[in-house]
Amino acid sequence: MEATNATTMKEVVQQKWGKRPLIIAGPCSAETEEQVLQTATELQKTGKVDIMRAGIWKPRTRPGSFEGIGTKGLPWLQQAKKITGMPVAVEVATAKQVEDALHFDVDVAWIGARTTVNPFSVQEIADALRGVDIPVLIKNPINPDLELWLGAVERIAKAGIKQIGLIHRGFSSYGNTEYRNAPMWHLAIEMKRRYPELMIINDPSHICGRRDILQDVAQKAIDLDFDGLIIESHIDPDNAWSDAKQQITPARLGEMLDNITWRKEDSSSEEYHAALEKLRQQINHLDDELMQILGQRMKVAEKIGQYKKDNNITILQTNRWNEILERAYAKGDKQGLSKEFITKYFDAVHMESINHQNRIMNA
Ligand code: PEP
Ligand code: MN
Repeated sequence: MEATNATTMKEVVQQKWGKRPLIIAGPCSAETEEQVLQTATELQKTGKVDIMRAGIWKPRTRPGSFEGIGTKGLPWLQQAKKITGMPVAVEVATAKQVEDALHFDVDVAWIGARTTVNPFSVQEIADALRGVDIPVLIKNPINPDLELWLGAVERIAKAGIKQIGLIHRGFSSYGNTEYRNAPMWHLAIEMKRRYPELMIINDPSHICGRRDILQDVAQKAIDLDFDGLIIESHIDPDNAWSDAKQQITPARLGEMLDNITWRKEDSSSEEYHAALEKLRQQINHLDDELMQILGQRMKVAEKIGQYKKDNNITILQTNRWNEILERAYAKGDKQGLSKEFITKYFDAVHMESINHQNRIMNA
């Protein structure tokens, strides 16, 4: 798509913004003019990328690594846009960066995870964006805090920005996990539940931190009805100046997107709806039964509480708790329930039990 002047590029951005799935791709960082232009050309060749991303200022957790090429890279993005017709997106973290990005016609701004955590920074960006009509994407904060994420949305909305979207990029967690940033899907789902009108796209690159599981995470996001994906892509991923391990070539990106099963949110078939409704009733019925059983379980826990109180015994007995868990893992496994789920479920049930016993003991 050729955009000949600023007005038509605005229209292109408008169309892209409403498109589902919205695909944003590009290098973690703009490094050299050649790298930016080559990546842009190859991304456009895939025919699947709506908006090109490139980091110009890179907030690094620790000093000493590449901190972004800076303002010098912005004309390269202008050039990339001219050649390919793709709108460009960059991360902004300060008022000065907003000013520079706008000066060089950046089409979409995003707020990074390390910025969303800081209300002062978000407010500074919001103030710099006042009166500006560009879409803004807001990454989740690095810590699992929906209020902070939401606070950032509110600050940007109050500055008059109309097109706001969310990027789910996972959450920092301490220790070794399969992911660079734990997806904690339930938080993204909760954000969707609370704000169904906000667009939300998934960033498998920063969730995975590695290439081999990108496809699975992207598919899961699409299965969960995300509106699109933002994926890091570089012409020479192994030699990228930042996030080398998670970047993929534009050709590989094209394949990956081809391999995704794109699903519809709904169907117009009456048969489908009738069958689904039946199954949903079964689920509701089973959920009701579970709730009743849980209520009964708590009543028994209260009796135990009373009994322990009469005999002046502590609520928590670690041995017994271990025994419950081991039993549950074994039984759960037979029912096809994962150890992870059993742990979470029993933690919750156990805590509720303790709270019931505690009320009895201290009544
Ligand atoms: C990035 O998109 O390159 C980036 C720095 O991501 P995040 O803010 O999610 O860490
Ligand atoms: Mn990155």
